[in-house]
Order: sequence, then structure tokens, then C-alpha cells
Amino acid sequence: MGSAVDSAPFLTSRLDFTEHIRVLVGPGKQGFTVHKDIISRHSPFFRAAAAERWASTDHHKAIELPEDDPALFATYLHCVYHGAVVFGDEGSLRYNLNEYLALYTMADKFRDLKTANLVIDQLMARTDELDQVPGPSDITAFYETSAENSPLRRLMVDFYTYEVGPGDITRGLGSKLPSAFLTDFFVKYGQLKGGDRSRSVRETFEKSLRKSMSRCEYHQHDETHLACKDGAAGGKAGSRVGSLGK
Ligand SMILES: [Zn+2]
Repeated sequence: MGSAVDSAPFLTSRLDFTEHIRVLVGPGKQGFTVHKDIISRHSPFFRAAAAERWASTDHHKAIELPEDDPALFATYLHCVYHGAVVFGDEGSLRYNLNEYLALYTMADKFRDLKTANLVIDQLMARTDELDQVPGPSDITAFYETSAENSPLRRLMVDFYTYEVGPGDITRGLGSKLPSAFLTDFFVKYGQLKGGDRSRSVRETFEKSLRKSMSRCEYHQHDETHLACKDGAAGGKAGSRVGSLGK
């Protein structure tokens, strides 16, 4: 870090539309053409891949992503170009938690924090709207692919800490959840409970929510993905009662 491309002028200079890169996605190598400058500003992964090609003479050598899903990559590109999560060809905004989680994992892999944060915001809004939190199969799938310190893991633990509670978990729900998640859950639960024994975890949460919850609570920021300007409390996370997803 600290090279010319990571400095502030890189973020504010006008976009260049003259250069593109080809990306081949999935085992069938579905082709996508993306503007080099746009995707490079979002993703250090693509920035490095593009820089490598431009340093050689082979500018148009495709970037291959054989393990990834072309439909998901198209959703990712929509976020990059349009700043919104829209799943499917029909432009549906339907709630499908698996797709949100897979999209988050993809954005994280490309180190595109802006898109990862966008997915978190829309996921929180959607769970609020539907009054539903991620279910055991969603959590299991996400824990298989995500990093230990992933903010989305933290969000899932918080969903369960504040909206499900230990009762359901010890009464059988726990057997459907991955052990790494259970460890995270009981550590968090213990911290809250230990902090203020006179209150329920929910009361403690709502108190601390009002005090400290900011829009950036579950975001990731760095020198090229600057913190959100409005640090005000986001959503109404404390109001969810939350049924479980699948
Ligand atoms: Zn933020």
C-alpha cells in the first residue's frame, strides 16, 4: 500500500473509459468486458490483475475465474456499476439470503469493501423488512467460506444474540449450527451478560445500540474505501423480533 494508485487522487480523479479488461467466469468461461478503471477503483484484486497485464505487452489477456458463478458475477458487476444489489435477470429485489451471502463472499474475495458494505446494508434492511434472520443452513454455508474476522459473521452472531437468544439454541437449534458459530455466539452472549448482570441481554443491547451503533458497525473501510460520511445510527436493528430463515 501507499503506492500512487492508493492515494486520494486515485479516488477523486476522473474515470478513464478507454481501457477494458476481459473476465472469463465459471467452468464455461462466460465472458464479461469491464472498464479497467472502474473495476480497479473498487477492487484491489482486479487492480493488481490489470496492472500486471498492462505491465506486460498482453493487455487483453483475460482474467479467469473458473470457480465463480457467472450469474453471481453479473450481480456483482451491477453493484460496481450501479451501486445497488439486484438479483436475477428480471430485476427482482426479492429476498434470498443465500445470494446475499454468496455475493458478500465474492466482494470480499475481490477485496471490494464498498460492495461488501453495500451488501451488508441491504441485507440488514431486508431482514428488517421481512422480520427474518438467517437460518442454520444459511449460517452453515457462510461459515464454510468466510474469514474468521468477517463482519458478516459478527452480524449473524448479533442477530442470534439479540433476536433468538440462548434458549432456542440450547433447546435443539444449536445442533443445526456450526460449532465455530456457537463459540462466537456464547462468547458474545457471555460478554453482554457479564457486562451488566441486572439487565437482560436484549435490554443491554438496546442500550448499547442507541449509544454506539453506527452505520459503519459492520462495514470494512481502508484508505481506498473511506468511512461513510454519515456515521449516524443505521436501521432499526433493535426492533427486529425475527423469525428464522431456512
Ligand atoms: Zn461505513
